Amino acid sequence: MSHCDYCSLVMPPSDTIWCQPCLDLILKVPRCKKCGLQTEHETDVCGDCLIHPPKWDRLFCISDYSEPLREYVGKLKYAQQFWLAQDLGVLLSNYIPDPAPLILPVPLHWKRFWWRSYNQSDHLGWTLEREFNHRKHAVRCETKILKRIKATRPQQGLSRSFRQSNLVGAFKVMKPITDKHVAIVDDVVTTGATINLLCIELRKAGVERIDIYAICRTGKSKEQDATSC
Ligand SMILES: [Zn+2]
Ligand SMILES: [Zn+2]
Repeated sequence: MSHCDYCSLVMPPSDTIWCQPCLDLILKVPRCKKCGLQTEHETDVCGDCLIHPPKWDRLFCISDYSEPLREYVGKLKYAQQFWLAQDLGVLLSNYIPDPAPLILPVPLHWKRFWWRSYNQSDHLGWTLEREFNHRKHAVRCETKILKRIKATRPQQGLSRSFRQSNLVGAFKVMKPITDKHVAIVDDVVTTGATINLLCIELRKAGVERIDIYAICRTGKSKEQDATSC
């Protein structure tokens, strides 16, 4: 007999740690396919994207930064529970019908990696790789292509313009990329400042299509809450 990790109620044998009623708590709302933010109706490009287009092509996420996922992303990131990347990654894979052949996790600076001892985005990337290959998509996750060469202040609480300047020169592409279609994996996307900079470097390296795979996409009003860094 197993119990749901979130509500602790008994549940039938399952591939995930969550029962179906808890999975049903994850709100399914219409989103802009480009930026991933909530919209009134599902759309390819929202008004915000027309005015300030993100530097990626499509964003795939499970939900907002809200319960029950919020709790698990927090544990994945701050409580050393890297194994949660398995269940979160499998859940995320169900939202991505046509995966990119190359998956690139958002890198941590070595100091933060050393302090935390793992990069949660690497673990999500490896789970997606396993899951997609299982479904007969040829996908590989590479953790050594993108490198964070500058330690930046945590993005939390910084103004939008400061977030941008805080990140300038933070990333480097370390190896040639032959794939024209790649995906960047992150746990939470907030303003998108970090991944925009990664996109600039990837475009310089010849990548034509960039998708973003994230567990949560936060709305602007939740920026202060988010754990993106
Ligand atoms: Zn439950
Ligand atoms: Zn949009």
